[in-house]
Order: sequence, then structure tokens, then C-alpha cells
Amino acid sequence: MSTIVIGFDKVKIIRDVNVPLFRFIDYFKGFEEVEAVIRLFGDETEKVLNELWIEFRSRRGYMGVNDQDGHLIINAEYLRNGDARDIYLDIIHELVHVKQFMDGKQLRDRRFNYVERPTEIEAYRHTVEEAKNIGMTTKQIFEYLKTESMTDDDAMKLANVLGINYLP
Ligand SMILES: [Zn+2]
Repeated sequence: MSTIVIGFDKVKIIRDVNVPLFRFIDYFKGFEEVEAVIRLFGDETEKVLNELWIEFRSRRGYMGVNDQDGHLIINAEYLRNGDARDIYLDIIHELVHVKQFMDGKQLRDRRFNYVERPTEIEAYRHTVEEAKNIGMTTKQIFEYLKTESMTDDDAMKLANVLGINYLP
């Protein structure tokens, strides 16, 4: 039996698809009470979180913010299996990017390396403050900062900028 080739002009493809988004507050409870979050959004905290959406992805990475409309992007596998404290801190980090997006800042400024990008430094600074606040040691904070996609050099550079003086 020979294969039947229908051909490019015979098929129909529905291309106008939507990526499903989910409400932040349905998955992340109590963040409106977190001092580090209130410091970002002030009186708008509840409103911002109520209107924040999440896109769950099935592969690659941890979290991010979409630079078109400011919604959160979260790796479902990471959310399921990642360390709870890391996830908490990542949310704090990403909420800084949400605020930056609201302020009209460009989140992916390619003129800078990741660890030197001002928007990242600001997000990490805020997150490190919260990490100290919840009692993490310098070593724990350094290990949190150093992700597997980061070189030792970059991790040291980032830690230095953030005032985390730790020698692995
Ligand atoms: Zn970031």
C-alpha cells in the first residue's frame, strides 16, 4: 500500500490559538500579606495580585514574566517538585519584574548580561533582602542565587553586587 500524501494545500490548520492563563491568586495564597510584596505594590497590592495571570509551561526553566503583557510564566514541573523556599523567593523575584513591567521598564535588555542587567539586580536585591528576613544564611542565599545555568564566575559576580560574601 502506498502512502497517501494529502499535501499542503489540502489541509486546514486552525492557527488562532490562545494560551490558557490561570489566576495567580488561585495558586499562590497569602502573598498579599507579605511585607516584601506590599513594599512593591503598596495600596495596589491586592488589586495587582487579583489581576495577575499565570501561564504554566511543561518544559524548561523556572519562572519568568512575559514582556508583552506582564503575566507570569511558571514551569509546572518546577512548581511541583522544586524546593518550596526557592519557589517562594522566585515568586518574590518575579513580582519585582511584574512591578518593573507596570512601570514600563524593558525586562530583557540585551545590552546587559543576565547577572548585570539592572532589572535583574533590582529583583535579586529585593529577593535577597527577603531571604535574609526569613533567616537564610549567607551560604543558603549563595546556593539559591547560583542556578545551574550560571557559571561560577557569574554567580560570584552577582553575589558580590548583592553584598553576599561567600566563598564556595
Ligand atoms: Zn529575573
